[in-house]
Amino acid sequence: MTLPLVIGNWKMNMLASEACDMARSLVDRLSATEGAEVVVAPPFTSLYPVSQIVKGSRLGLAGQNFCSEKKGAYTGEVSIEMLKDVGCGYALIGHSERRQLFGETDEEVNKKVHLAMQMGITAVVCVGETQDQRKAGETLNVIETQLSGCLAGLSSESIAHLAIAYEPVWAIGTGSNATPDQAVEIHKFIRKFLFGSQGFSEEIGARILYGGSVTPENCKELLGEEEIDGALVGGASLNFESFCAIIKSSLES
Ligand code: PEP
Repeated sequence: MTLPLVIGNWKMNMLASEACDMARSLVDRLSATEGAEVVVAPPFTSLYPVSQIVKGSRLGLAGQNFCSEKKGAYTGEVSIEMLKDVGCGYALIGHSERRQLFGETDEEVNKKVHLAMQMGITAVVCVGETQDQRKAGETLNVIETQLSGCLAGLSSESIAHLAIAYEPVWAIGTGSNATPDQAVEIHKFIRKFLFGSQGFSEEIGARILYGGSVTPENCKELLGEEEIDGALVGGASLNFESFCAIIKSSLES
């Protein structure tokens, strides 16, 4: 049985001291809890101090983004090797905020996925449709195009280091989550894409997470769905008790 994966995306929030306090509290709480793979994605400036706190604990560390080039003259960028160097075992790739605000394309996401795999870092690839695309009935086409572009050239074995986060753009940070039925429909479609048309091994597996306004109130029914292997949590992961409640629900489901 694969453990649920719950990732807290702290986005551009918390100073290093706050991130460290939160990480310390999570490490303590997790030491008293069984199961669930729990990961936090602090801002870059907090990765190193937080890595010193999570070392040897059950709390994993993720980068929120990294450069699609390996190294060199890319002022302001951070490489995948740098993420690994500070103890990241995971990296978010292609978050909708990166796509919408910083113009990230499926092609760049694909380059990043390959770099993460080469480093043995679990790539958490985010896909999702906008409200307009959903209204126009384009959701499945959008998801398929994103998956084909983002996962091009991956070998079946590499998907052991892959998680897909289905994050409808209209649900991110809006307080309006997808219903379990809406999420399940897309998760089934993603599963069929991965293990059907792409021919990846279902035995190796890749977890499919839901993200978009997950809260302690709605997580039970979302995470209770067999198709949903975990959650990518933004806003609610900034509050210790809320995030812990979501982690607890993932275990009960
Ligand atoms: C996210 O940032 O990936 C996210 C899902 O945010 P929120 O939970 O705040 O909607």
